[in-house]
Amino acid sequence: MNHVIIGAGAAGIAAARTLLKEKEDDTVVMISEDREVYSRCMLHRFISGERGAESLNFVNDGLLSCPRFSWIKGKTVTRIDGAAKAVFDAGGELARGDTLIIAPGANSVTPPIGDLKTASNVYGLRHLRDARAIVEAAQTARKIAVIGAGLVGLDAVYGLLELGEKTGRAFDITVIEMAPAVLAINLDAHAAAAYQRLFEKAGVKFLLAKKVVNTKSGPGPDGGPRISSVELESGESVACDMVVLAVGVRPAIAFCEGSGIKTERAIVVDDRLQTSVPGVYACGDAAGLSGIWPNAQIQGQLAARNIAGWNLVYEDRFAIKNTVNFFGLVSLSVGAFNPQEGDEVLIREDRRVYQKIVLRNGIPQGIVYQGEIGGKGYWQHLIKNKIPLDKLGKSPWKVSYADFWGCENNGEFKWVV
Ligand SMILES: Cc1cc2nc3c(=O)[nH]c(=O)nc-3n(C[C@H](O)[C@H](O)[C@H](O)COP(=O)(O)OP(=O)(O)OC[C@H]3O[C@@H](n4cnc5c(N)ncnc54)[C@H](O)[C@@H]3O)c2cc1C
Repeated sequence: MNHVIIGAGAAGIAAARTLLKEKEDDTVVMISEDREVYSRCMLHRFISGERGAESLNFVNDGLLSCPRFSWIKGKTVTRIDGAAKAVFDAGGELARGDTLIIAPGANSVTPPIGDLKTASNVYGLRHLRDARAIVEAAQTARKIAVIGAGLVGLDAVYGLLELGEKTGRAFDITVIEMAPAVLAINLDAHAAAAYQRLFEKAGVKFLLAKKVVNTKSGPGPDGGPRISSVELESGESVACDMVVLAVGVRPAIAFCEGSGIKTERAIVVDDRLQTSVPGVYACGDAAGLSGIWPNAQIQGQLAARNIAGWNLVYEDRFAIKNTVNFFGLVSLSVGAFNPQEGDEVLIREDRRVYQKIVLRNGIPQGIVYQGEIGGKGYWQHLIKNKIPLDKLGKSPWKVSYADFWGCENNGEFKWVV
């Protein structure tokens, strides 16, 4: 059989690897707009100059040189035929398979505010080409407005700060965020504030709970607009030479229109990650079940295994895990870490660490750990499986990975709680 995969990101690569392993006589064709394989989580290190494009490559196991694998790179899929499992670009058919895995990830969203959609000095941060464009623009920019203080926005700021330090250029960076805190999706307000303080110490200004409502522009080099300031609902104006936009992403699935595959905001999949068309699977950010790297990988692997006949159910829709690391301060959050009314909240804090557990009827709903996060992955298991803390028989602060492992007669380790 021949399997076609759209996307060379976390999900697509995991799917390709798994299919080649599971189906030893089969071939895989991967198609991507990207010409390089790279980790999007590392784009800030490219902006900072710490890493070149080659060192963002996360495939070093021979996949790309496997004789049963071929990669059509630098091609933008514009149309697919779900039933025929055929994939097309503007020039015609690119590939056709017995199965199809759709893993095109997402694109940065540009809201229809002022000249954000048309100005020459507005940059998203999703692809390597975006990071390259930011580095180029930063050669002549001094004042930078970053809209969005989530992980991607702060990644851009961090990369620019490091770039400024390395090149002796002092950027004047202002971050504008609609939410009252930075990293609102990733961490609770307390843990997030620690990062805000570190960025402020490095000279970054934050305008929180502020909405961008307009822009002011002059003429750009291409005759189009070039934004000179970002205008806020509060009446404030942020002067800028460039704008980095990090207000969210949307699944890159426009090519599914007319394919027979059901879509809503993302591609609709069942609990085995199969789309509405048999033999066509979707995974990663395009399936809209989560927006993080490890889950995209797990989904790519699971879709491929199901094609190979495993019949696995995707269970990681909850207990989403986030890790954050800026200025050497590490944090981990899992699940619903902001309590609802009636929840019990346990907190431990000293100068080095902050730890928080949210319980509902004794069952953990979410956690935040900051300062020390090593070996805390078991929380994902406890939260996902709704395991009451009193079942552990010891203080939740004293629990460790070792408490969860038992040994079978055959020597195999397994979760025992
Ligand atoms: C700056 C940044 C920082 C991040 N940091 C973290 C982090 O710290 N931790 C974390 O867990 N996650 C992080 N993420 C999110 C993580 O990168 C994504 O969840 C993950 O990359 C999703 O994998 P994917 O395979 O679904 O999509 P992607 O990695 O986006 O890959 C999509 C692939 O599809 C191709 N493609 C798209 N459209 C087409 C088309 N029309 N035709 C052909 N090919 C197409 C692309 O070229 C690409 O190869 C970050 C993301 C960004 C942008």
